[in-house]
Amino acid sequence: MDRYDLVILGGGLAGMCAAVEAGEQGANVLLLEKQDELGGSTVLSSGYMAFAGTDMQEQTGIMDSTESLVADMVEVGGGVNDQTLVAAYGKHQLETYQWLVDHGVEFRALEAVSGHSVPRGHIIDPHQAIQSLHRRVKQLPNVTICFNAPARRLLKNAEGRIDTVVYEVDGKEKKALAARGVLIASGGFAKSEELLNHFAPQLKGALRIGGAGNHGDGIRMAWEHGAWVQDLPYLNGTYGFHPTAAGPVKSQGLAFYKGAIMVNQQGKRFVNESISYKLLGKAAFEQPEQISYQVWDQTVMDKSVFDDPLYDFELLKRRRLLYKADTLEELADCIDVPLEVLEDTISRYNQGVLNGEDSDFGRTSLTHNYGKPTPIEKAPFYAFESTVAMLATYAGVSVNAAAKVVNPFGEHIPGLYAAGEVTGGFHGAGYMTGSSLGKAAVFGRIAVREALSEKAVV
Ligand SMILES: Cc1cc2nc3c(=O)[nH]c(=O)nc-3n(C[C@H](O)[C@H](O)[C@H](O)COP(=O)(O)OP(=O)(O)OC[C@H]3O[C@@H](n4cnc5c(N)ncnc54)[C@H](O)[C@@H]3O)c2cc1C
Repeated sequence: MDRYDLVILGGGLAGMCAAVEAGEQGANVLLLEKQDELGGSTVLSSGYMAFAGTDMQEQTGIMDSTESLVADMVEVGGGVNDQTLVAAYGKHQLETYQWLVDHGVEFRALEAVSGHSVPRGHIIDPHQAIQSLHRRVKQLPNVTICFNAPARRLLKNAEGRIDTVVYEVDGKEKKALAARGVLIASGGFAKSEELLNHFAPQLKGALRIGGAGNHGDGIRMAWEHGAWVQDLPYLNGTYGFHPTAAGPVKSQGLAFYKGAIMVNQQGKRFVNESISYKLLGKAAFEQPEQISYQVWDQTVMDKSVFDDPLYDFELLKRRRLLYKADTLEELADCIDVPLEVLEDTISRYNQGVLNGEDSDFGRTSLTHNYGKPTPIEKAPFYAFESTVAMLATYAGVSVNAAAKVVNPFGEHIPGLYAAGEVTGGFHGAGYMTGSSLGKAAVFGRIAVREALSEKAVV
């Protein structure tokens, strides 16, 4: 059996940050990737990362702080997220941003996104990020990446410490000894019908978008050894996808965070559109036939951001995914909602905007506490049929702030670490955009530092 200091399961952002960190510390590392390429859900993502106090924010005059980031995360998580994990994120986030920059990851823009009080969504091209980290790994002879090599099971030694990974290559079973630790970085289970049906039957009918290998293997392997799990009751889809959306082709638009409203097939609003798009997804799924539309006017359309993964509404128009109409009458006709109801909905909404008080749903901002809504009044008008996609399962294996996997009593399962989407506890009841890529990078590196400080098994 080959011997390594660390065996990492999964080559998404968490696994790749960990591989680079461990390799640079001189550790002998094996990274197992189930697919024939790196990237998992990471490379399908919109690329927003949540960091505060960065040079990019400073250059655009945005005042921000770790304290504000942490406070937003706790608020978005409904206060039930593990505060020690959120605090650890706060402690390491800025240094992680700088580490990524130093390792060639390019941050190209900043946007206000779900759950942030200020523009804090730092956008990467996830392919570029993974390629950069991969380039660095190739310079490190002590790091080996093995493709098409799914990890199957973990084994404990006589002292009860996890020290062996059973995996498969070319249909043959192999074993690797992990002398200092095993890091599970195998992502979530957005592609496992079995686990989704088991843990989130309410999401039947939601689109499934996520890394092809994300079947929750890591959760099963950790569970077998007594890992506790967290946040499963809060599994929600993400709102804002066109019903035809599938895979990497972008068919997502979050016009509601630029001022659109959401209406159901009856032409009625049903939610405060500034809240987390996870919670919007939940509300949208409760509408008749689960059908809803984002509706906006030219004022919102003018806020379209070229080449942005979430806000490029002009791209949606070019792809013929939008209805465009010169009058509300025409728009109501396009989406088959009763005109008088739609007119009344928009008129009430506009009145609320002018009065500074949305008496129906309490909307006072564009997203979270940021930005002011505008009336929907300037033709042409647009509608975008939108639905919910299960793209990331922000729930899973319990870890402590040192990325050590813990059992139901909060005790570390010796030798076992986890980072990235496979973990639970961090997001709590709600998800703030950018915090999942963020946590993958932050906790991937924390896990390595902790594991390498352990005494090696002999
Ligand atoms: C469409 C979309 C948009 C998103 N947008 C954002 C965003 O803007 N900001 C944000 O923060 N988050 C976003 N997310 C979520 C985010 O992308 C993921 O949570 C994050 O990339 C997870 O990183 P990871 O390294 O934990 O997992 P992944 O990137 O999914 O990597 C896991 C890897 O493990 C491999 N693997 C699985 N099982 C095994 C096994 N048994 N053995 C070996 N390898 C295995 C997989 O093949 C995969 O390559 C988005 C997700 C999607 C799908």
